[in-house]
Amino acid sequence: KLGNETAKAELGRAAWKYFHTVMARFPDEPTADESSALKSYVYLFQRLYPCGECAEHFGELLKEFPPQTSSRSAAAVWACHVHNQVNKSLNKEIFDCANIGDFYDCGCADDETDGSG
Ligand code: FAD
Repeated sequence: KLGNETAKAELGRAAWKYFHTVMARFPDEPTADESSALKSYVYLFQRLYPCGECAEHFGELLKEFPPQTSSRSAAAVWACHVHNQVNKSLNKEIFDCANIGDFYDCGCADDETDGSG
């Protein structure tokens, strides 16, 4: 436990940023191995999340809302939804998941073949 609300919030912002950016870069048409890797990543992200109470709460959410890894959009909308569940429990604003497609930019457009990343 960090025992410091400022540090906990900062960790949360950084972790969510990374989490959503992973989803935004996941393939549109993943292989079975890629889908399996993303699912493992989500469960390990939860298991190893440094804030114990957060990890415990997020583990309950993963039971209720298992990771969706069949495509980029399924993963991104799923991640948006679980983040909104955390927002709700912390009395924060609900994010509009319809806008998730454009929101997380990794700054790595060079690896995109269509130049839109
Ligand atoms: P954050 O919730 O950190 O969001 C950062 C930014 O992401 C927002 O400013 C917005 O631009 C965008 N955003 C907001 N909602 C969404 C969404 N649904 N989808 C995509 N983008 C969005 N804190 C606790 O006190 N108790 C907990 O139990 C707890 N559990 C957590 C579990 C996990 C897995 C993580 C990653 C964090 C957890 N946190 C918890 C931290 C908490 O979620 C916030 O990160 C922290 O309170 C800072 O909040 P914030 O208002 O700056 O915005």
